[in-house]
Amino acid sequence: MFESLSERLGGVFDKLRGRGALGEADVRAAMREVRIALLEADVALPVVRDFVEKVTEQAVGQQVLKSVTPGQQVVKIVNDALVEMLGAEASELELAVTPPAIVMMVGLQGSGKTTTTAKLAKRLTEKDRKKVLMASLDVNRPAAQEQLATLGTQTSVATLPIVAGQQPVDIARRALQAAKLQGFDVLMLDTAGRLHVDQALMDEMKAVADVAQPQEILLVVDSLTGQDAVNVAKSFSEQVPLTGVVLTRMDGDARGGAALSMRAVTGKPIKFAGVGEKLDALEAFHPSRVAGRILGMGDVVSLVERAAETIQADEAEKLAAKMAKGQFDLNDLRSQLEQMKRMGGLGALASMLPGIKKVQNAMANGQVDDKILVRLDAIIGSMTPRERTKPELMNAKRKIRVANGSGTTVQEVNRLLKMHQEMSTAMKKIKKMGGLKGLGAMFA
Ligand code: GDP
Repeated sequence: MFESLSERLGGVFDKLRGRGALGEADVRAAMREVRIALLEADVALPVVRDFVEKVTEQAVGQQVLKSVTPGQQVVKIVNDALVEMLGAEASELELAVTPPAIVMMVGLQGSGKTTTTAKLAKRLTEKDRKKVLMASLDVNRPAAQEQLATLGTQTSVATLPIVAGQQPVDIARRALQAAKLQGFDVLMLDTAGRLHVDQALMDEMKAVADVAQPQEILLVVDSLTGQDAVNVAKSFSEQVPLTGVVLTRMDGDARGGAALSMRAVTGKPIKFAGVGEKLDALEAFHPSRVAGRILGMGDVVSLVERAAETIQADEAEKLAAKMAKGQFDLNDLRSQLEQMKRMGGLGALASMLPGIKKVQNAMANGQVDDKILVRLDAIIGSMTPRERTKPELMNAKRKIRVANGSGTTVQEVNRLLKMHQEMSTAMKKIKKMGGLKGLGAMFA
């Protein structure tokens, strides 16, 4: 799976790895190669463009983490962008309804639809302990219904008895009734395929969907057909409300173009991957695992993740030590503000530090304004070192002096002091809740 893409990307990263510093030109050169690798893998052009743009932007503006090389950081950025392109979260089947839940399988002939129906039924039976009934609605292809019956025997999954001459919508009705009467949890409907997308096929599918009201409509497409698979998915999704895609023959797919473009082009999640002819060769599609397979650099990715965590933990630890001694003073607040400013301004700050949202609102009358950080800094800067370590010294006279010195008002000085107070209280609470871990989570 993905061998050729994986090899190409590996080559790009080998060049980046081990380099002490990466300039913008290095990143851009690497991204040109990533772009070629993705195009060679048959990923849709607009998807490639978006991908490269996003990664370049992030890689160029990247904050340097200690203990990892910039090249390793780029690997991590590419990894995260891949996961996002593949669909971020693995999506499960939606079967939580009053039984029977109905799963309708659609797709072109030869895509692996019937095999996948049986694979999925087997998986639901064995892994999820569901009682599954399969029914073939394919009255076009000779022996299609018998094929499903045979697969049912092989997988020990029940199939709807065949009634010669019955039409798809009627078979669907009969299957529904049987599933209800006989207490099946899941009914899987294997619909007829065609050689090409045609209107008769779509009309039949819509009629069946109308009768069956399925919770899931899964499109089965052959990953080896690359962008054709994506185009087929697009046509289908314009006609029926697909809930997901199953990509078959991923075992033979060295390039990965269909897998990588599917989500972005169709908006539909890939839910399962067929990885062989055997009936247990079906995998849930996990974007992060797939990205890991493509890059083959899970070690680098986790290294960078750890490095980022270490920095947060270092900071958290320093603060925690101060807190433990009841020493979180205005100097600490000032350096926190400074650090947060670097990390993404007040917006980011607001979500990270307890109490600050209120101050932000109060000081800007609800307007987000990074100038506030400068004013807060000026206020602290106008205090004497003693006042900074002992904010409780701040009486009315001192407040007027500081306000004048910093070009602010006594109200603003009061708000700053209140903010410090609130943060100290919040931090004490966090310490009680779980100490470092709670604090670490706050910075995550
Ligand atoms: P349908 O016409 O869409 O119902 O296609 P079938 O289910 O009959 O499958 C066509 C062929 O593809 C069969 O020989 C299957 O064994 C094979 N096939 C299906 N899924 C996979 C897969 O994930 N990997 C491989 N290697 N072969 C598959």
